[in-house]
Amino acid sequence: MASVSASLESATRGAKSSAALEFLKSAPKKLLINGKWVPSKSGKTFETLNPANEQVLALVAEGDKADVDEAVKYARKAFEDFKWANLSPHARARFLLKIADLIEQHADELAELETLDNGKPLFESANIDIPGAAETFRYYAGFVTKIYGETNPSDPSMFNYTLREPVGVCGQIIPWNFPLLMASWKIAPALACGNVVILKPAEQTPLTAIRLGELICEAGLPEGVVQIITGFGPGAGSSIAEHPDIDKVAFTGSTEVGKIILKASAGNLKRVSLELGGKSPNIIFPDADMPSAVFGSALGIFLNQGQVCCAGSRVFVQESVYDQFTDSLSQMASTLTLGNPLDPNTRMGPLVSKEQHDRVKGYLKAGKAEGAKAKIGGEPGKQEAGYFIQPTVFTGVNNQMKIAREEIFGPVASAIPFKDETDVVLQGNDTDYGLAAAVWTKDINRALTVARKLKAGTVWINTYGILDPMSPFGGYKQSGFGRELGKYAIDLYTQIKSVWCKIG
Ligand code: ADP
Repeated sequence: MASVSASLESATRGAKSSAALEFLKSAPKKLLINGKWVPSKSGKTFETLNPANEQVLALVAEGDKADVDEAVKYARKAFEDFKWANLSPHARARFLLKIADLIEQHADELAELETLDNGKPLFESANIDIPGAAETFRYYAGFVTKIYGETNPSDPSMFNYTLREPVGVCGQIIPWNFPLLMASWKIAPALACGNVVILKPAEQTPLTAIRLGELICEAGLPEGVVQIITGFGPGAGSSIAEHPDIDKVAFTGSTEVGKIILKASAGNLKRVSLELGGKSPNIIFPDADMPSAVFGSALGIFLNQGQVCCAGSRVFVQESVYDQFTDSLSQMASTLTLGNPLDPNTRMGPLVSKEQHDRVKGYLKAGKAEGAKAKIGGEPGKQEAGYFIQPTVFTGVNNQMKIAREEIFGPVASAIPFKDETDVVLQGNDTDYGLAAAVWTKDINRALTVARKLKAGTVWINTYGILDPMSPFGGYKQSGFGRELGKYAIDLYTQIKSVWCKIG
């Protein structure tokens, strides 16, 4: 660490990866356009902070409309030159496999960068985010050689078949909660289908996307296939959403911004896919295996400090076990060690930013003001610096309270009692969102019946939060539309051409 500046040394205290520190030293970070790292045209940069100590990790180029225009120009050229789409599928698959290998080879470095930039425990970055990103590239590498068209049963005088072709230039705007994983959910299927991309990471967490850009260059992808434009929502993000020469926009983030993106996309009728907010019901029946239900519910709301779009933030507990269950959930919350997320024993780090910290503190206030009781937590963390919030379980909540209706995006469980199956299905579905849900019971008939009745894109039975690149993910209602992951992402990133040929 001798050559690292004193301020960087202080901002990264606890970091062990010399590669991560080397990466941070070579700031300001630039934009990736046409295979080259370039400063923003305005010359502007912004700071990215370590939310555990509020110190600056790096300066990052602030891209805006002029940079997006430039990125689109080269992306369009790469697409129209068929540099990527017309490569042999086997060759394209090998590039994706190479990216997966490189992510794995740099896993320790990427995990530390993710934890430094986002605040999530290293335990999570190292075991969930980074391996998940590599697996996503590997999964879609397998798809490149399996994107089929069809032969249609046309009149014998005709031969009619379909081709699945790439959509073109894809703008991809991602959030800060799973930065590298979200980048891979976006980039991997788009590339598998032969598209070219312009990725905009969230301004709070640009680092691993930039490092991924470097690894993509190292893998040797043709220039112009992947651009990384760092910057803010209004500016870089809005320029992507509005751009007349971007064919598709894929967005993960808040429902509020999702609506703005949908409107902005109307100018040239971009294809749009949106993965937005949630207020997912996590339903506990009295016959559930209680230790598993408590553990799974804690994971459902406290993983990543609750900054998860499919977090089980409304915990519905049947009246007869409400007190017992909320006691156990609070007890489990009390065992979560808050602290420097780089410490491998830490189970809860800070929230990502001051803005998010203020927001969550506002909800803690609102919950108390509406009469909910914090059985545990309910306050910011006691650390000297950093955006910590104590894991919180609110009891005495009803489904009409603000803390039961609005997405908090923090480690705050709202525990709501229910009478019976009919009641909980009604309450569970009484929300604007529909991203995920869970049900805990040993009665398989009840589990399957409730799973059918819940209006959500994912339902977990006797587990919570399991995701895998093979299984589709996306929302009902205002949680968005389009399904990422699995074979469904191939629909998002291809368009179908019907070809007619007259015979004879
Ligand atoms: P959050 O509220 O959780 O920070 P946002 O929905 O604001 O989530 O942000 C998700 C992503 O959307 C980020 O990359 C952000 O920069 C981007 N974004 C925010 N506002 C806009 C906008 N008006 N147009 C396009 N992108 C935006």
